[in-house]
Amino acid sequence: IARNGHEPEFIQAVQEVAETVIPYIAKHEIYNGKNILLRMVEPERLVSFRVAWVDDDGEIHVNRGYRIQMNSAIGPYKGGLRFHPTVNASILKFLAFEQVFKNSLTTLPMGGGKGGSDFDPKGKSDDEVMRFCHAFMLELNRHIGPNTDVPAGDIGVGAREIGFLFGMYKKIRNEFTGVLTGKGLSWGGSKIRPEATGYGTVYFAQSMLKTKNESFDGKTVVISGSGNVAQYAAEKAILLGAKVVTLSDSSGYIYDKDGLNDEKLAFVMDLKNNRRGRISEYADKYASAEFFAGETPWNVKCDIALPCATQNELDQQDAKNLLKNGCICVAEGANMPCNADAVHEFNNAKILFAPGKASNAGGVATSGLEMSQNSLRISWTREEVDERLKDIMEDIHDSCIEFGKEEDGFCNYVKGANIAGFVKVADAMLAQGVI
Ligand code: NDP
Repeated sequence: IARNGHEPEFIQAVQEVAETVIPYIAKHEIYNGKNILLRMVEPERLVSFRVAWVDDDGEIHVNRGYRIQMNSAIGPYKGGLRFHPTVNASILKFLAFEQVFKNSLTTLPMGGGKGGSDFDPKGKSDDEVMRFCHAFMLELNRHIGPNTDVPAGDIGVGAREIGFLFGMYKKIRNEFTGVLTGKGLSWGGSKIRPEATGYGTVYFAQSMLKTKNESFDGKTVVISGSGNVAQYAAEKAILLGAKVVTLSDSSGYIYDKDGLNDEKLAFVMDLKNNRRGRISEYADKYASAEFFAGETPWNVKCDIALPCATQNELDQQDAKNLLKNGCICVAEGANMPCNADAVHEFNNAKILFAPGKASNAGGVATSGLEMSQNSLRISWTREEVDERLKDIMEDIHDSCIEFGKEEDGFCNYVKGANIAGFVKVADAMLAQGVI
């Protein structure tokens, strides 16, 4: 805290891990006295750089770019790039720290990193986004590589941005390699990668529900966000027989009393991915829906909640409202969407609660599969990738149960994910010595 006290999100993420990992370290001789956690919270490297670019009117803008290379004990740094005006070192360090544990949980050999910029793609033309991405890669290229650090997308960085970033990397380095994941299918991307985080979140929730002999079938589901993760979480939940009644963006949420269906979801995908519009337009189009400006959907009655927008979007009062309304399962599609008090509410009530580092790990896991396919120069089918994704989500669920099951039979998935993620990285760090 003395060193990072000015970074609230980072402190929040570390505290959540420390609460469960420190008691575990105390009980296990091999980790005692090695200051492992102290080493894990200091990034191996943090790069911050100027990104200067020219808008369509010829005006020059300056943004700040970052790459946090957090931990490479078990593999090359891996983690997304976020373009959003709120991006700063604290947010990226929290995301990079979470990523170390998440990547460890996937069972694949990937270290943890994160990066991005305070650039806001909203309202920018395609040409402006291209010029920004090219300028960003002019510096980033010297810090990454297929065996060093492999970035991917996150908030504000989707297929369009990955394309521009990859194009500039290829031009500068004169090599076609798997240096980024989330690529287009015709130039090295993996099938199911766009779907993976949302699908994986639902697969994880499905595994949790199974422990209570429950399923998605016939359940009412509340989802926040309407970006990549939210769209595919909704698609899979609907496919499994659930009624998805909400989506949101930073301007508010829509409630559809009839639930979304394939046609409505296709409208949302076109609205958000192609037209880059606001979710309120959904309520203009469908009479069964209402738009609630400036609000979050946590007061809506549901069985299952999937927060898929951003960090700290669900607080203690929201958690109380969900519990009061009979919610039995919460799986985080976003990173740290529930604040610490909300998580405590869920765990005290002993409902099924999955932290993002476990439930949203399907995205990076499929990125890991994209890296394997790039190295082998092959392309697996949709079914093959989906099968591997399902297996990985089940393995992560098993690990959480192994380390998180308590004496009364309740599974604390937060504890399970933190300890399972920690053990693999800590063992590798011990084996590699003090470096
Ligand atoms: P997108 O940019 O595709 O979508 C983000 C969504 O969240 C949009 O609906 C956006 O609304 C909303 N949102 C963003 N910031 C805020 C805010 N401050 N308040 C309210 N709503 C907000 O991003 P993704 O779907 O990729 O990412 C969503 C979350 O999932 C993030 O936490 C990300 O770190 C996490 N994640 C993503 C993975 C992936 O594979 N994409 C992998 C693992 C985790 P608006 O359009 O108004 O900004």
